[in-house]
Amino acid sequence: MKTENIRNFSIIAHIDHGKSTLADRILELTGMVSDRDKKDQYLDKMELERERGITIKAQTVRIPYKAADGQEYVLNLIDTPGHVDFSYEVSRSLAACEGALLVVDATQGVEAQTLANVYLALDNDLEVIPVLNKIDLPSADTEAIAAEIEEVIGLDCSDSLHVSAKTGLNVDKVVEAVIEQLPAPEGSADAPLKALIFDSWYDSYQGVVVLFRILEGTLKKGDTIRIFSTGKDFDVTRLGAFCPEPADFKTMGPGEVGFMCASMKELGDAPVGDTITHAERPTSEAFPGFKPVKPMVFAGLYPIEPSEYETLKAALEKLQLNDAAFTYEPETSQALGFGFRCGFLGLLHIEIIQERLEREFDAKLITTAPSVVYKVDTVDGESLVIDNPSKLPDPTRIEAIHEPYVRMDIHVPNEYVGPVLALCEEKRGIQKNMGYLTPTRVMITYEIPFAEVMYDFFDKLKSSTKGYASLDYEIIDYRQADMVKLDILINGDPVDAFSCIVHRENSARQGRSIALKLKRSIPRQMFEVVIQAAIGRKIVAKERNAPFRKDVTAKCYGGDITRKRKLLEKQKEGKKRMRRMGNVEIPQEAFLAVLKAD
Ligand code: GDP
Ligand code: MG
Repeated sequence: MKTENIRNFSIIAHIDHGKSTLADRILELTGMVSDRDKKDQYLDKMELERERGITIKAQTVRIPYKAADGQEYVLNLIDTPGHVDFSYEVSRSLAACEGALLVVDATQGVEAQTLANVYLALDNDLEVIPVLNKIDLPSADTEAIAAEIEEVIGLDCSDSLHVSAKTGLNVDKVVEAVIEQLPAPEGSADAPLKALIFDSWYDSYQGVVVLFRILEGTLKKGDTIRIFSTGKDFDVTRLGAFCPEPADFKTMGPGEVGFMCASMKELGDAPVGDTITHAERPTSEAFPGFKPVKPMVFAGLYPIEPSEYETLKAALEKLQLNDAAFTYEPETSQALGFGFRCGFLGLLHIEIIQERLEREFDAKLITTAPSVVYKVDTVDGESLVIDNPSKLPDPTRIEAIHEPYVRMDIHVPNEYVGPVLALCEEKRGIQKNMGYLTPTRVMITYEIPFAEVMYDFFDKLKSSTKGYASLDYEIIDYRQADMVKLDILINGDPVDAFSCIVHRENSARQGRSIALKLKRSIPRQMFEVVIQAAIGRKIVAKERNAPFRKDVTAKCYGGDITRKRKLLEKQKEGKKRMRRMGNVEIPQEAFLAVLKAD
């Protein structure tokens, strides 16, 4: 394929602005999906993605297309996820493109992640074409939104594209714009091979599958390739592209995007961001690579039945093969027994992994409250990395605790600025900037402890702005903070899985709130249950659950038998996600009570 006739592009957007829908329409318009295969969100392959309507893993499709100029082109559409937890996947995918379609919902305008994604695109020197979407909706205001895009982002919108991804209106013009306005890739077919690995995953039949973009040179099936960073060589056993089903190719040249298999056993054999070259005639310079992704949030995963430990371990191992951002290692808890400490990118990532474990592996789990990673200096000069609050050393051994901070941009209509500032201040934020993006929209920048924003910040922001605020954040650094460990005791025994690290100033209030939440989520038992919150030796809160006297089914006595059975079933259902601690039964939701403490 001549490079002049290739276009590599991504679609970027704030979540829900219509990226996946536009991708679907483009695939239909270009005949990539037949009516028979037509499913909404074709690119969102994972069942979970489709149900939740979000894109987790980026996907790629090669689209042969005969343009209005009569020439045959190949378009490589590289889909990207829209959620902040997965922004690292966005920047990887963009590195494989020359251009991007920027989808903006014409009823909403520029949101926090619209801007964040545009910055990523500009960082990668991409040409950006604005696309105003959802013009079928009566509230769409293309003129105002086009002006906003010009003002806030600085993109020319004088003849911008106005589409409805839902009805397909003007989607043909989008495809033509990709050909006319986006640059073709460059690169010589005869140069030493230089290809960028922008994604990889593990397939149980083929081993590691590598998605790559050739920058220079030519790759053939059967070639011996070398991974630049490791110097390891592999033979290419399969070469191809997703059309959208996998199709085999014998050879691929500069500018092309494809997948390959080369008998690689682990994801580490093909690190994302690495460069592929030929063993025989290697390139001298590698692609600069990506920042490695590091899990930022940790939680314990424990089997409900201790006998299922090995099954859970096997499931985690499988998941890890396909998700380099997810990590796990064995840990033991006095309260929960043998389990795993797992690392994630954020709360959505936890939810996704947890749901996949339950759905695909039938695992029954208890998940402990997520925690950020703290750095602790001890009095004897050690530096510790603490990803489990119960592991925090005794206060007398601690010299200083450092916690991660994020820089957060919030976009909000000006009438909601007050509540947003109040929320950020309450969460220990430091205001860095505030300014009008347009006469009615404000951007507010804060530096704020990650621990304060990862739980319920987004929900609170939404509710205090009637859903009109959007946010984007990135982790910037670690800062010293006055943190303490809050312990929870059940009937006098500390439960390590309930420990959390909180700011000293809020510790008593949080202790009371957690104790109360626990009281409400732990069902009454045959005996009294006393719940205490403590900082060191000092008890800061105490709640008690009185024993219940009557069998819950007693009130159905002599009554409706089906109602009674339903009640028993409900109890059984509830038991599934409970763990016995001493003799107290504790349901899953209790473990997450700390998340919801105010
Ligand atoms: P993404 O998060 O950017 O991938 O957004 P989706 O493609 O999943 O779309 C989010 C929601 O907007 C879905 O309910 C779509 O059906 C809807 N949507 C997308 N494009 C349009 C459009 O042009 N018009 C209307 N009315 N709804 C749309
Ligand atoms: Mg989507």
